[in-house]
Amino acid sequence: MNNNISPIPANPDGGPLKGVRGAMLTFRDDPFRNPAESSYDYYADGLAVIQDGRILDAGEYNDVIPSYPGLREIEHHEDALIMPGFIDCHAHYVQSPMIGSYGDTLINWLNRYTFPTEARFRDKDFADEVARMFFRQTLSNGTTTANVFSTTFEASVNALFEESERYNARTITGKVLQDRNLPDNLKDPSTEGSLLLTEKLLAKWHRRGRQLYAIIPRFAPTSTPLQLKLAGELYQRHLGEGVYLHSHLDEAENEIEWALSLFPEAEDYTDIYDRFGLIGHHTVMAHCCIVRPREWKRLSEAGCGVAHCPSSNLFLGDGEFKYREATAEAHPCNVGIGTDVGAGTSYSVIRQLGEAYKVAMLGGNPLDAIRGFYMATRGGARALRLEDTIGSIRPGYEADLAVVDLKATEFLEWRLQFADTIPEKLFVLQTLAPDNLIRATYVAGKKVFDRQRAHSLVYSSELPL
Ligand SMILES: [Zn+2]
Repeated sequence: MNNNISPIPANPDGGPLKGVRGAMLTFRDDPFRNPAESSYDYYADGLAVIQDGRILDAGEYNDVIPSYPGLREIEHHEDALIMPGFIDCHAHYVQSPMIGSYGDTLINWLNRYTFPTEARFRDKDFADEVARMFFRQTLSNGTTTANVFSTTFEASVNALFEESERYNARTITGKVLQDRNLPDNLKDPSTEGSLLLTEKLLAKWHRRGRQLYAIIPRFAPTSTPLQLKLAGELYQRHLGEGVYLHSHLDEAENEIEWALSLFPEAEDYTDIYDRFGLIGHHTVMAHCCIVRPREWKRLSEAGCGVAHCPSSNLFLGDGEFKYREATAEAHPCNVGIGTDVGAGTSYSVIRQLGEAYKVAMLGGNPLDAIRGFYMATRGGARALRLEDTIGSIRPGYEADLAVVDLKATEFLEWRLQFADTIPEKLFVLQTLAPDNLIRATYVAGKKVFDRQRAHSLVYSSELPL
């Protein structure tokens, strides 16, 4: 892990220096494994110095500014808290048109709303429109990196990556592999064809700018053994290049039973994926609510990321994530936060933290805000194996920043005066999280979202350096 805190020299041939000033919070250590109070840095009046999308220096304004006599452009955010851009470790952008649909059971919800909606993504124009709206929601909520399910069709992948490129955001997505137990208009027409299309999209998008590719079997029950086998072979071939494997695991009792009935030779649900070579250090599994000890051990050993999706746990009512199990000393996993839109009910990662507290309380284990905000930033980056690149405000990191408005509403401003400490303030923010909580979002150093601007969202290429 990069613990370097000394500044990086400015590139004399690079772009102009830019400063972002205000109260700042960033994590240095994992508060699940270290004392919470020493796991973060807080600068009451902080300054981040940025060049060409990268942070050169960060710290207290008075300590940093003497080294940059030529720094003219400083954007000063008063009454705010600047944090690393939030990281959404699991979302389905293709479900944006049906978020908030009444779900009596998961299967009815899928059949009635999810599958018919996803089937529309053959149409590139429709996919473009949804991708556009997805980024408007994530960026206005301070999310700068998302690990996202597309769906079966090529158009659904291209639409999301193209829109991500316009903002220069870091996005992970890929074609969803699903060749059985789905309606015909959504299912892969051919197993071999589904892998060929995956290879084609991987070659086109992986590491193009900030874009990263994930191989995505929806979940074990919707893939034939052959599809999982071919997906595993492809993953193993590209694992060294940082290609991801993203799927769902251990969300609900009946799902686990179904999966095991389809793969009776497997020891448990994790073992289904493992047998096909799908468990590795770039594997990210969503949910992990009902997990056997052997599975935790295996996920931990392999270095998998786990996406905790609290509002989805509550919405579907199928299972509750147990963070104490996931982070237990015997088998600690790297846990990030997922919105799981559209079973999740908000694009806001901060709002998910409010829900994560409630999910934890249902199991009798309170989850404090320091550990929550860690999962939303550096912890999420670690779950995605990007902890040396994003998720921190430190020299060398990509300049993705979220500016939280401490005066977003009259009530929030009033309430915060009664919170004395940083953890208290963070807990109020995650619990109340009003819609307009984020004032601005920087992506690779550019302010693509500014609530006060006439056009609040602007593509990166249309903004000056
Ligand atoms: Zn999901």
